Amino acid sequence: MPRDPILVVRGLSATYGPIRALSDVDLDVAEGEIVAILGSNGAGKTTTLLAITGLIRPTAGQVTFRGRDITGTATETIVRLGLAMTPEGRHIFEGLTVVENLRMGAAFRGRAAFERMRDEVFALFPVLAERRAQLGGTLSGGEQQMLAIGRSMMSEPAMLLLDEPSLGLAPQIVEVIFDLIVRLRDRGTTILLVEQNARLALDIADRGFVIASGRVVATGTGRDLLASDEIVQAYLGVE
Ligand code: ATP
Repeated sequence: MPRDPILVVRGLSATYGPIRALSDVDLDVAEGEIVAILGSNGAGKTTTLLAITGLIRPTAGQVTFRGRDITGTATETIVRLGLAMTPEGRHIFEGLTVVENLRMGAAFRGRAAFERMRDEVFALFPVLAERRAQLGGTLSGGEQQMLAIGRSMMSEPAMLLLDEPSLGLAPQIVEVIFDLIVRLRDRGTTILLVEQNARLALDIADRGFVIASGRVVATGTGRDLLASDEIVQAYLGVE
């Protein structure tokens, strides 16, 4: 790996009652990378993110973030350590304004930090600045996705986990969102990206991990993964 690892996952397993959702997952992300987790519906991509961020408790394995064991740590503590997540389906507060939504992402920070990050988010997403007083529920899908990402940025994370940022968005809007993800990385945020759209994700990712039935079945650069007919046909659904 070219740079220092920021996130190291070893032997991660998780269950939902009797259902085994993750088995022995190993995964590394180096500082400054964009890494994609790929796989079809129900493969275990979201569960991987939930187990990393403490939203579900893994049954086995270890998660190390910036050299510190965070396995099973409370999500709030993990966010304070610099790891934030933008969930699938965005989950913005529809009845709150854009600015109020951003404030929720900086709940434990002082006023000065809030204002500094709000201005940074507005610089990254000028459309949110224009719509700062608009209710979240009245934003377009693409604007809501920007707001969800912006809200995660408010805690100034060193690393951001993004769950299906392209979900339900028109192709041109997806392109805008993916350009923004690259810009976030270029300004220093490490990115772990879950996507069903493998071609799209591998376009911007340094490396990818393919998950099937809760296990990592392949890993490599986008070029490596897309060069294997077997992987593409069996797991990636790329035409
Ligand atoms: P998608 O792309 O459809 O979001 P995914 O790869 O993110 O899929 P997960 O959501 O991680 O998949 O689900 C992995 C497995 O765990 C699936 O079989 C799913 O049905 C199951 N599962 C997920 N959440 C729960 C839950 N709350 N209770 C029971 N089973 C669950």
